[in-house]
Amino acid sequence: MPVIVLDAGHGGKDIGAEGNDLIEKKLTLQFVLKVEKYLNTKGNMSIHLTRRKDVFVPLENRSQIANRLNSNLFVSFHHNAGGGTGFESYIYPGLKNTTTGEIQKQMHKDIMTFLKVRDRGRKEEDFAVLRQTKMPAILLENLFLDSVMDAELLKKAIFVDELSQTIADSIAKIAVNL
Ligand SMILES: [Zn+2]
Repeated sequence: MPVIVLDAGHGGKDIGAEGNDLIEKKLTLQFVLKVEKYLNTKGNMSIHLTRRKDVFVPLENRSQIANRLNSNLFVSFHHNAGGGTGFESYIYPGLKNTTTGEIQKQMHKDIMTFLKVRDRGRKEEDFAVLRQTKMPAILLENLFLDSVMDAELLKKAIFVDELSQTIADSIAKIAVNL
């Protein structure tokens, strides 16, 4: 049975990005809890979270949790800020032509098909959680908190539900081959 680790970015003293009355650490937790719920209804996967409360979890601990579980997939949830708009996904540099790259391609496409926002592309970056995890790992930047347009979407409960469902469906599809 594939083991999936969902990582809600930031938490506790580390609030992450802010904008338009939205706080990243709260939103990432909201998303992972919903994605976990949807994935659990599908069965045949073991779902774990790196945090399920508003607590600070050091980056090393997040990858350690996934490595100790011998998990098959690590998905880190974030929201952007800094004057842009849209969606982007990240994997560790140099993994484009590996299973990790295939997973990014699939998830990015599935999410963009639903979002219909600006596609900022599939990216590579040396983020700690991507570097330290031993299994395929992807980091999602789900829209910009400091964009009025993006924040309006993220404030809608139905949008959060549907995006969570979309991500869960994508993970379930990928998990079949893990
Ligand atoms: Zn973040």
